[in-house]
Amino acid sequence: MSNFEVTVLGASGGTDGGATQCFMVRPMGCRGLRSICVDGGAGFSQISQMLARSKDSFKSELLESFYANDFEPAGQFFDPKASVSLGFPQCILGSLEDALEKHKHLNTFTKAMEIYMGVKEYYITHAHLDHIGAMVLNSPFACDANSGDAKLICALPFTLQAIEKHIFNDVIWPDLLHGGSSRLKLSSLTDGIPHVCGAFPQWDIIPFKVHHGFSASIVDERVYSTVYLFSDRSTKQSLLVCGDLEPDSASGGEPLLEKAWEYIATRVPRGNLKGIIVECSSSASTPKHELYGHMSPAYLVGQLSRLREMYGDPDVLAGLSILVTHVKTIISEKDPRLVILQELREAALQERLDVRFSMAVQGYTFSF
Ligand SMILES: [Zn+2]
Ligand SMILES: [Zn+2]
Repeated sequence: MSNFEVTVLGASGGTDGGATQCFMVRPMGCRGLRSICVDGGAGFSQISQMLARSKDSFKSELLESFYANDFEPAGQFFDPKASVSLGFPQCILGSLEDALEKHKHLNTFTKAMEIYMGVKEYYITHAHLDHIGAMVLNSPFACDANSGDAKLICALPFTLQAIEKHIFNDVIWPDLLHGGSSRLKLSSLTDGIPHVCGAFPQWDIIPFKVHHGFSASIVDERVYSTVYLFSDRSTKQSLLVCGDLEPDSASGGEPLLEKAWEYIATRVPRGNLKGIIVECSSSASTPKHELYGHMSPAYLVGQLSRLREMYGDPDVLAGLSILVTHVKTIISEKDPRLVILQELREAALQERLDVRFSMAVQGYTFSF
């Protein structure tokens, strides 16, 4: 049975600014509009688009591609056994009806605001703009006196410091963290230590710092990101949601991702890991020096093999759902998402790794 419901508000790895990484995560079938988001590259606009689009069942068959064809059949992007549906989960739409009773206007923006107000916590992986852009632009809504509870921005200290110093500084954006309504707050997490989720107290969320390449201007200055392990204390099931990352070995760095794998292999019993949401930004044809701190198909399959090795069980990952995100928009003939999916499946076959790859597509909900 599924445990986690993940609605993809954005999954692009840029360069289009429309809907970069943001995953809305909720317990499966949960009533009410409460949610948390991992990253904030998408937000209110994408929620509105999803609500408007869900009336149009025709588009569920085709996805925007703009490569070999402008639209491609949606099925090409998903594993045949993936549990995926267009739009928000039914339990959110049902709860939305109840929440709307107090409103005079029942247009799409009114509905989108109810869902946006339900986002109680953001778990930010790192402060790159494609992971925080919409969260920042939407923040005046969060500070509105009628917007209910405060929203928390949760992250490891290096990310919070960057957001506080370089974004909400009254130069790039108004300092809504310290001025005004105090409805937007920072919450500092600790590497490798479980954090009890405020919105869903049955969840522990464990952050792990990971490598994400080097600074573009300062020689040898490392850039870091975060992966989050969601662990449900009652069902014992887990889901791993990753920000941008690279294997430790890619830059000769200290073992960081290795520690996350070790934690999972020792703490998450076989069969309880329900899925991994992870980036694979570039195809196999990209030279290593042009990955800029990101995953390639070879790197990703190598890391999944490493996790299997740590479990010491060749079949431990059999049937595991891997949701691939953050594919970069490039100029090419074929949609790079389809190229990368094929390369991942071939590389996994070679490694005898029986996992199921699907592409995270904006506007769809996946169950794990
Ligand atoms: Zn990044
Ligand atoms: Zn990114």
